[in-house]
Amino acid sequence: MKNGTKGSYKQLIVDTGIEMVEKGITVGTWGNISARDPETNLVYISPSGMDYSKIQPQHVVVMDTELNIIDGEAEPSIEKHMHVAVFNARKDVNAVIHTHPIYSTAFGVAEQNLVGVSEDFIQIVGDEIKVASPYELPGTEALGTVAVAGLGTNNAVLLPGHGALVVGGDMKMALKVSMVLEKNAQIYLYAKLLGGSGHIRKFEQSEVDAMQNFAKNHYGQKNKDLYS
Ligand SMILES: [Zn+2]
Repeated sequence: MKNGTKGSYKQLIVDTGIEMVEKGITVGTWGNISARDPETNLVYISPSGMDYSKIQPQHVVVMDTELNIIDGEAEPSIEKHMHVAVFNARKDVNAVIHTHPIYSTAFGVAEQNLVGVSEDFIQIVGDEIKVASPYELPGTEALGTVAVAGLGTNNAVLLPGHGALVVGGDMKMALKVSMVLEKNAQIYLYAKLLGGSGHIRKFEQSEVDAMQNFAKNHYGQKNKDLYS
C-alpha cells in the first residue's frame, strides 16, 4: 500500500457510508465521514458528492493532517477542513461523522443548545451540546474553526442552519454518538410538546457526574450488556 495507507481504513469508510444510509442518519450524498489511523496519523475521508452505494475503496481520499493528499482517485469531501481541524484539536478522536439529521438540525436552526435529557446521551455525547457560532459557510476553513470551538470536550456540536458533527474514539462509537444525538433531540422536542408548561426534567449535576464516571470507567467491561 502507498506510503503507509491501509486498505482496512478505506473499507471502513465505504462500509460506514452504507451503514449511515441504512440507519437513516443521512440522505443521498449529504454528510461525510473520516477516520484517523493513530499509527500513521493519516486521515481517510469520504469523496465529495458521491452516492454512498457507489463509493469504492479506491475513491476514499487519504490525507495527512495538513491536508496534503497522499492517495485516492476522487476529490475529498468539501468538509475536509472541518474533519482535519477536529483531529488536530482532539487527540482522543479517531473518527468524525458529519450529517444533516432533521431533529438535531432543528436545534441548530433555533440556535438552542441541546441539553442531554436521556441517560445514554449524558454518558457518551456530553452534558449540553453547543451550537457553533457564528454561522460559517459549508466547506470553509472558518467552519472548521467554529466547529472545533463549539465541540470543546463534548462528542458532538450543532452547525447552525446546516447539521451536526459527531466524534468518537473509533467509528463504532462515532456512529453510536450520531444515533444517540438525534434520538435525544427528538425526545427533547416530543417532551416539550407533552408538557403544557414546557417542563423538561434536566439531570442534576451529581447525576451527570455519576453517569459519566460510570461510562468512562466501566463502559464496555463488566456491565457491557447494560450500555451496549
Ligand atoms: Zn454538511
